[in-house]
Amino acid sequence: AKKSGKNSACFYDPEMQNKINLRIGLERDLRIGIKEHQFELFYQPQVDNKNCVIGAEALIRWHHPKQGMISPDLFIPIAEETGLILPIGHWVLETACKQLQQWQKNSQTAHLTLSVNVSYKQFRQVEFVSQVTHLLNEYQLEQGKLKIELTESMLVDKMEFIILSMQQLQSQGVQISLDDFGTGYSSLQYLKRLPLSQLKIDRSFVSDLEKDANDKSIVETIILMAKALSLNVIAEGVETLQQKEYLAEHGCFCYQGYYFGKPMPIGEFESLESIKSD
Ligand code: C2E
Ligand code: CA
Ligand code: CA
Ligand code: CA
Repeated sequence: AKKSGKNSACFYDPEMQNKINLRIGLERDLRIGIKEHQFELFYQPQVDNKNCVIGAEALIRWHHPKQGMISPDLFIPIAEETGLILPIGHWVLETACKQLQQWQKNSQTAHLTLSVNVSYKQFRQVEFVSQVTHLLNEYQLEQGKLKIELTESMLVDKMEFIILSMQQLQSQGVQISLDDFGTGYSSLQYLKRLPLSQLKIDRSFVSDLEKDANDKSIVETIILMAKALSLNVIAEGVETLQQKEYLAEHGCFCYQGYYFGKPMPIGEFESLESIKSD
């Protein structure tokens, strides 16, 4: 299609129209999907230096009745724009808490932690902390088992409110992990103010570790920052043994990535030999 000038948006652009239709369709289908329970949580193992599973990250999957599985990268942004992330996010949290309760009942899985991604839009709701409190009580969760992953990019406005909410969660034994770390801008000074438990090194730095000298120094710096702030550090997107070894040599002993396991349905996760504690 011909490119239209600034004030002439009247060209019919079939490609654009396609995108709009797709988007309208997805939004409508998301509403139906919520009503009809088309979502599922997958679990990706998080392991320690001995390859023992210490926990998981819960990652949402949408089974679209016609289009099959739709990636969260595609529908989470739409859910955020439309506010549908609130019911979806609540479902994710509740499902995760139920799962943690199940794990707690069994000595073989009682040590596992579970990380849940929470969108900024969800986190900044005034009711968010009380919803979490309610779930912690309802499912009788032990301290330290539920982790909330927030991204650096959400720490831009309403800082006082965000910090207060984080403190309230922490005081109830909820851990907070800063996801995709390194992709935004946070100074040490600023990180010092946040009640965090963990920094999660973004996949983009891990994937080129072997080749890219810059990524090497970024990763080393992040690990040092975590140490300086007494925070745990976990690397995401670990795909090779070399990456794991490099991370270990530099003081990072928790990992997540395809090398250890892809996100998988609950049954598969619970069958992993390496989750058993002894
Ligand atoms: P994220 O939080 O950064 O999650 C990590 C993503 O990296 C996941 O993609 C995971 O499958 C993928 N991944 C893990 N290990 C590797 C690896 O070794 N190599 C590569 N190439 N990729 C790896 P996924 O499951 O498609 O999720 C994409 C994003 O969607 C997540 O990125 C997160 O931002 C969002 N998301 C997923 N579930 C939820 C949810 O329940 N709530 C919210 N608000 N967002 C979610
Ligand atoms: Ca995450
Ligand atoms: Ca991440
Ligand atoms: Ca990421």
